[in-house]
Parts: sequence; structure tokens; C-alpha cells
Amino acid sequence: MALIVQKYGGSSVGNLDRIHHVAKKIMSAKSAGHEIVVVVSAMYGETDRLIQLANALTQSPEPREFDILIATGEQVSMALLSMALNANNCPARSFTGPQIGIQTDDIHTKARILEVDTTVIKRELKEGRVVIVAGFQGINERGDVTTLGRGGSDTTAVAIAAALKADECQIYTDVDGVYTTDPHLIPEARLLPQISFEEMLEMASLGAKVLQMRSVELASKHNMPIRVLSTFSDGPGTLVTFEDKIMHKRLVSGIAFSREEAILSLSGVPRKLGTEGLILGKVSEAHIEIDMIAQNATAQDTVDFTFTVHRKEYPKALKIVEDLAIQLGANTVKTNSRVAKLSLVGIGMRSHTGVASTMFRSLGEAGINIQMITTSEIKISVIVDETHLEQGVRAVHSAFELDKLPHVPEKMSIE
Ligand code: ADP
Ligand code: ASP
Ligand code: MG
Repeated sequence: MALIVQKYGGSSVGNLDRIHHVAKKIMSAKSAGHEIVVVVSAMYGETDRLIQLANALTQSPEPREFDILIATGEQVSMALLSMALNANNCPARSFTGPQIGIQTDDIHTKARILEVDTTVIKRELKEGRVVIVAGFQGINERGDVTTLGRGGSDTTAVAIAAALKADECQIYTDVDGVYTTDPHLIPEARLLPQISFEEMLEMASLGAKVLQMRSVELASKHNMPIRVLSTFSDGPGTLVTFEDKIMHKRLVSGIAFSREEAILSLSGVPRKLGTEGLILGKVSEAHIEIDMIAQNATAQDTVDFTFTVHRKEYPKALKIVEDLAIQLGANTVKTNSRVAKLSLVGIGMRSHTGVASTMFRSLGEAGINIQMITTSEIKISVIVDETHLEQGVRAVHSAFELDKLPHVPEKMSIE
């Protein structure tokens, strides 16, 4: 008998037929003799609908009220799933995050889980029930409902699995597992049988929303491998695990992307000590998070300063940059709010050179201009015009022969 935590995402519980389907899957795992804890997301589109309602009412809803509103989506799906199971004579009980005792900090809309109380879950399992928990939510010290950020049900599932020391943490979704890139954009993308925590963390933080970044962080911290599986078809899915457990090492594992980027550039800023600190200070005073930064010296003893931010911060950042241009005596302000970030991820990059040049060549051959570059040990990110994103992902994907996995090409083998 194993203790299994299963998480079903929004599209997996998107309508009553799908809820029935999920109930059947749970019943078959239960009748194989396992103990099952289920984490559910809100029905597909529901969280967006609740957010729109709040925004239609007021421009700045109180974070406390906003969280208690958007946490309700999960409460609907957990209760419906529990009813579906009970109607099929499979004893089940559903609980909200606060009812179970998922303690979080008090950063509304992106709270972190501090502790999971397993008392209620263990009691219910002992009594032979399937335990269903609403994902994406918890309770802070003051007793207020908090939410964990978009995609947060993944993190609920991992936190519960870790607290229970579960045998498996299964994340069921609308694709067969983790692919070399989003299969909805690039149909040639290949399913990865395994991926390391480190690579998955990069993929998630760079835009691959198949797992919430924090869920991967938590899983690696608590030594809890995750299996990503399809709700709608059978298959082994993808195991997210430690690097030393990866059987077929690859040079690169995948491409992540984000369309939500904007780029701002101040050019011809007279060179002066402390200018960079001043620019970044103004941006961070406005609570805008900067992603990439570059500075180039010009022959005229001025500098060009460029950075990227999330697209939703663009109007605020533009205003700051325009003010700074006057204050610092810059020549021009150049911005583009419709850029995208394309990132190549792979642990093989640590020990292999030539990855960046292959990537840049493939983009160049596709006629795609690179506007900015950043690298780290296991990833290379570039900013391109949004209209070139799909073509760029395709070009890099085929340059690294990711569409040909599991075959590992000779010249790129790292073993
Ligand atoms: P859920 O509602 O089940 O949590 P999400 O929509 O959050 O599902 O995540 C699944 C989606 O992630 C897929 O439908 C796919 O479009 C997207 N995705 C992005 N990158 C990848 C990738 N590398 N592999 C698989 N799916 C990806
Ligand atoms: N319902 C939440 C969202 O849409 C949480 C989740 O689905 O994981 O972001
Ligand atoms: Mg998700």
C-alpha cells in the first residue's frame, strides 16, 4: 500500500464530465489498495473570472478580500469531486486549505507555505476516506485566507506530499508530462521521461507554467520527486528528480519562453559615478522588479542603459525612465512593450562550450534579431520581438535536435 498525493489542474476538473473522469481515476488508485490525498484547482477559467469580477468593481481591491474571493474557486471543485466520489460509494471528504491547517506567511496573493498540519489528513485516511484538499490557499497567523500565486495548487500538492512523506506526488494536467517546450506552441516538442529539479526550476521560472516554480523548489528541498502526468491519457509522464537519477543526460533539455516582457533603454547617458544605482533605485522604489540589465559604454563617454520588466509594469517603468532621461541628460529613450524572452535550459551547458553560438546562429539564420542576452550556468535567455517568438523557439528547438529525442545526437552527447 502506498500513500499517493494526486493534484488535478483546472482543465482536469473543467466540467462535470471531467470531474466524473477524475473520480474514476481516484477510485481505481484506491481500489489498488493505496491511500489517496487529492489536491484540486478551481474549474478551468474560474480563477480568471473571479479576478475580473474584483477588478471590474475596484481598481485596487484590498488584498485580504481579493484572496478570500479568489480562493473560492478551489472550494467549488473540491466539494463537487467529493460528491462524485461519494455518489460512487467511495468515501471522501473535502477540506479548504485553512481547514486542513496550511499555514502561510501573510503576503497576500503570493503567500508562502510555512507549515502543513497533517492531523486531519491522517485521521481521515485512517478512517478509509479519500481526502480532497483545495489547492492554492492557506491561512496566515491572523486567521486570514491567503493564496499562493497563480498555479499555486502544484505547491499545495508538493507541500502536503512532503509533510506526509508520501510515496508519490503526481501532478495531473492536460499534457502528457514535461515537454522540450510548450507542445501547444510547437507540436514537434518531445516528452521528457525525466528532468532534473534544477532544470525544471529554470524552465518554470522562465515561463513554462506546467509546474509552479515554488512547487519545484519545495520538492527539491524536501527530497520529493514529482511525476507530471496526463489526466486524459495513460503514460509514464515525466519524473522531476535529482540530477544523479537522470538516466540519459542531455546537453540541453528544453526551451521556455515568456511573452510578458517589456524592454526600456536610456541611451547617451553622460558617464557619472553612481548613475546605475540611481536608475535602479528609482525603479525599485516603485516596487518594479527588473529582470535583465545591460550597460554599454559608448565612444562619446556616455553609456546606454537597458533593462527589461514584466509587461504589466511597463507604463510605470516608462514614466520613470522618461523622468530619468531629463534628470540625467540622456539623449534618447527607446522602449518596446511587445518583446518576448526565449530561454534555452540544460545542465549539460555547464561542461560544454558552443551552446550559445549554436543558439545565436540558429536565430540569426531565421532572420531574428537578438535584443538582449543573459546567461547563467545552465541557461541562456534572449529577448526578441514578440512576433518572432514562435519562429525563434522552432529554430532553436530544431538546432539542438530536441524534436529528435530520445535519440541523442553523437556530437551533442555529453556522456
Ligand atoms: P493545470 O491547469 O493542470 O495546472 P497549466 O495550464 O498550469 O495546467 O500547465 C499545463 C500547461 O503548461 C500545458 O497545457 C502547456 O501549454 C504549458 N506548458 C508550457 N511549457 C510546457 C512544457 N515544457 N511542457 C509541458 N507543458 C508546458
Ligand atoms: N486556480 C489557481 C490558478 O488558476 C491555482 C491553480 O490552478 O493552481 O492560478
Ligand atoms: Mg498549473
